[in-house]
Amino acid sequence: MRFAVLAIAGLSMYASAEGATIKKAQYGKMPGGEAIYAFTLSNAAGMQATVINYGGIVVSLKVPDKNGAMSDVVLGHDSLPDYQADRKTYFGALIGRYANRIGNAQFKLDGKTYHLAKNDGKNSLHGGTEGFNRRVWTPRELPDGALELTYLSKDGEEGYPGNLKATVVYRLNSANTLRIEYSATTDKDTVINLTNHTYFNLHGNGEGDILHNLVELNANQFTPIDSGLIPTGELRNVAGTPFDFRKPMAPATHINSNDEQIRLGKGYDMNFVINHVAGGGLTRAARVTDPQSGRVLEVWTDQPGIQFYTGNFLDGTVKGKGGKAYPQHAALCLETQHYPDSPNKPSFPTTELKPGQTYKTATEWRFSTVTNGSSKR
Ligand code: BGC
Repeated sequence: MRFAVLAIAGLSMYASAEGATIKKAQYGKMPGGEAIYAFTLSNAAGMQATVINYGGIVVSLKVPDKNGAMSDVVLGHDSLPDYQADRKTYFGALIGRYANRIGNAQFKLDGKTYHLAKNDGKNSLHGGTEGFNRRVWTPRELPDGALELTYLSKDGEEGYPGNLKATVVYRLNSANTLRIEYSATTDKDTVINLTNHTYFNLHGNGEGDILHNLVELNANQFTPIDSGLIPTGELRNVAGTPFDFRKPMAPATHINSNDEQIRLGKGYDMNFVINHVAGGGLTRAARVTDPQSGRVLEVWTDQPGIQFYTGNFLDGTVKGKGGKAYPQHAALCLETQHYPDSPNKPSFPTTELKPGQTYKTATEWRFSTVTNGSSKR
């Protein structure tokens, strides 16, 4: 493998012989003056992912449709101040220390109760008031054209114990896969659940809704929720319910049904229990096809759950890229994760991390296209 480094007027670019490149450009400034950069990862096929080191946010993801035309398929904002002002959506951001909700904003660990910010009714959502999505990460361009982001979350930050060192790597390959690798270590017992909160609209961001996408979820069960969207602890079979996405189904089919769970979530906003095969590795958790553009997204992960969220709380008041208002269901999220509220649910897979252990997980977004039933990468 051969690498070349080009430096032009303070901007840098790494290029590998395989055609994967990473380009750095100024994006904005924090109120204190600290510069925030945008890193654009590109492959030979023309796919491009742009990530900023504020929140590790994927601000744009350009992928080809069935005719090779590129569109940006993720919702977001146009500027750093717009991301900073938005405390509702978590567009494209890294979420930590704990993705999704922790009931009553507290949990017990080693006999001690830890209190978190109540930023979602009486519950804690997505790591608290100043979660990982609002932090400045230290960027490093890797020689293979990947982007590494690191963040040290201090002992007690947002109420969580232990100094937690988190590293996330975004890597684009030549087959139109964006791989996200998460790792972390701690110096005290703690809990952790990291994800990325990208909102996908495969037709193009700001281009209608996702209700008629075809969604497949590799899950025989989901974790039903209460009125605060906290799992009740039950694992419920999807068979015969509006949650059976084992065969492709459009969210529109049941999204307005009178099902109690759909009503509580105001649409789909549940954690699905991914069917993993023994032996580990990544499993295909989800597949979404946009029949119009022919774009297909597969989500592969080693995580036990995936939050399928149909943008129910978007209501047209959030203005996104190009000043476009994003209406309800303008996008869908597929957040790979441990189940919500696991620290309070001993029957769920554990989210504890201890000194000496390394938290390590990966998720891949694999893009392809279909034309009249035949697929291509
Ligand atoms: C949650 C939703 C929430 C959204 C934005 C999703 O992960 O499940 O309930 O509204 O994030 O915060």
